[in-house]
Amino acid sequence: MCGPEVSGSDRVSFSATDNTPGPQKMTPNSRAFKQKLSDDTESEFGGTLGAVCIPVFLPLTVLFLVCVSRSPDASVCQWPPPLPFMEELWDPLAPVLLLGWMALHALLYLMPVGKVTEGIVLRDGKRLKYPINGFHSLCISTLLLMLFLRLGAHLESLFELFLPLAASAIALSFLLSFYLYIRSFWAPPHDLAVGGNTGNPLYDFFIGRELNPRIGFFDLKYFCELRPGLIGWAVINLGMLMKEVELQGSPSLAMLLVVSFQLLYVADALWNEEAILTTMDIVHDGFGFMLAFGDLAWVPFTYSLQAAYLVKHPQTLSSLQALAIVALKVVGYTIFRRSNSQKNQFRRDPTHPSVSKLETIATATGKRLLVSGWWGLVRHPNYLGDLFMALAWSLPCGFSHLLPYFYVIYFTILLIHREDRDERQCKAKYGLAWDSYCQRVPYRIFPYIY
Ligand code: NDP
Repeated sequence: MCGPEVSGSDRVSFSATDNTPGPQKMTPNSRAFKQKLSDDTESEFGGTLGAVCIPVFLPLTVLFLVCVSRSPDASVCQWPPPLPFMEELWDPLAPVLLLGWMALHALLYLMPVGKVTEGIVLRDGKRLKYPINGFHSLCISTLLLMLFLRLGAHLESLFELFLPLAASAIALSFLLSFYLYIRSFWAPPHDLAVGGNTGNPLYDFFIGRELNPRIGFFDLKYFCELRPGLIGWAVINLGMLMKEVELQGSPSLAMLLVVSFQLLYVADALWNEEAILTTMDIVHDGFGFMLAFGDLAWVPFTYSLQAAYLVKHPQTLSSLQALAIVALKVVGYTIFRRSNSQKNQFRRDPTHPSVSKLETIATATGKRLLVSGWWGLVRHPNYLGDLFMALAWSLPCGFSHLLPYFYVIYFTILLIHREDRDERQCKAKYGLAWDSYCQRVPYRIFPYIY
C-alpha cells in the first residue's frame, strides 16, 4: 500500500469538533467548506439559465420522444415534430393509476419488513435511518400485478395510456418540486444541501434546497429514487410486451431481450438498495425538480422507449446477433456490479477479506482511495459497465432508427457530466490525494480513450 502525504494549501481536513472558519480549516460545517462547494456547484447544469430552460425543455422532450416512438417513421428528425394535442395528454385514468401506484409504494415503503440501516454521518453528526425493503416492494408489486392480470386487467392498455401517464408524471414532479421548495424554508440550516442554498430561487428550486426532506420516518428523496419510477419502468415495459403479443401473437426475441435486461437492472438496483445511501444523489444533492422529475417522469418514460418502439416497429434478430447482445450485457453487468460492490464493500468495511488486499492511497480525511482492482482500471469503472449495458438495451432494436439509441446517447452525456461533477467534489474533499489518484489512474471512464 502506498499513501502520499497531503499537505499545503490543498489540504482539506475534516474534524467533527473543529468549527473554526478559515482557509486552512475546512470542516463539513465550516463556512469556507460550504462556500467552496457552493462556488463549485452554483453553475452546475448551466446555472440560472439551465434552471429555467431544463424544466421546460426536458418535459417537452419526454412528450416528444413518446410521440416519436409510436409514429410510423419513428424519426427524431421529422418536421414538424410530432407533439401531442392537448386532448391526447389527458385521460382521467392516468392520474388515478399514477396516484394509486405512488400510494401503493408508500405503503410498501412503510411495511415493517427488511432491515433498517443508517445513512452516512450528516453535518449535524446524526445518521438517518432507512428501510431496506425495495426488493420486497418489487416482489409484492409483481405478485399484485399477477393477481390483477388473473382478474382480467389489461396491462397492454399501458401502451395507449403511455402519453397521458407521462403527462401526469410530469405534472406530479412539478407539484412535488413546489412542495419541496416551500417546505425547505422551515428546515433547519444544517438540513439544507450545501449546493442548493444559493439564494437564487430559480436555481434552488431546480437543484433542491433540502438534503433529506422527511415526513416523520418517510424519506421523500430516498423513496422516489428507486421505487415508484424504477419499478414503474419495469411495469411499463411489461405492458409494451403484452401489447406486442396482442398485435403480433407472440413476443419477439428483441422485446424479450430488452424487457429482461431492463428488469435485471431494476431488480439489481433494488437488491443492492443500501448502496444508494452513499451515492451523490443521496449524499450531496438536495431534493428539488432535478431529482423529482428525473425519478418520477424521466426514468420511467424515457428508459422504456425501446420497448415502446418495438411495439410498432418489430425487429427480427438472428440467434448469433442475440448471443452477441447477451454477451455484451453480461460483460457490462459484470463490470458494473463488481466495481460497485467492490467500492461499497471497501467503504463499509475496508478490512473485509475481499478488499483488504487492494492497494489504496491515504487522504487527509482519514478515508482511503482504491487504486487497484476495478478502481485501478479507470476512475469510474461502474459507469463503463453501465454504458455497455445501455448499448445492449438498444442493439435489439436494429439500426434503422436513432430513437432506440436515445438512452445510450443521453446516458453517455449524463455520465460524462456526472463524472465531472464527482471529480470536482472529490478534488474538494481529497485535494492532493485525489491528484495522486488521477496520476495513478489517468483515464476517467474509457480505458486509453477518456
Ligand atoms: P459512484 O458510485 O461512482 O460514487 C462516486 C464516489 O465514490 C466518489 O464521490 C467517492 O466518494 C467514491 N470514490 C471514487 N473513487 C474512489 C476510489 N478510487 N476508491 C474509493 N472510493 C472512491 O457514483 P454514482 O452515484 O454516480 O453512481 C452509482 C451507480 O449508479 C453507477 O454504477 C452509475 O452508473 C449508476 N447510475 C445510473 C443512473 C441511471 O440513470 N441509470 C444515473 C446515475 C448513476 P467517497 O470517497 O466520499 O466515498
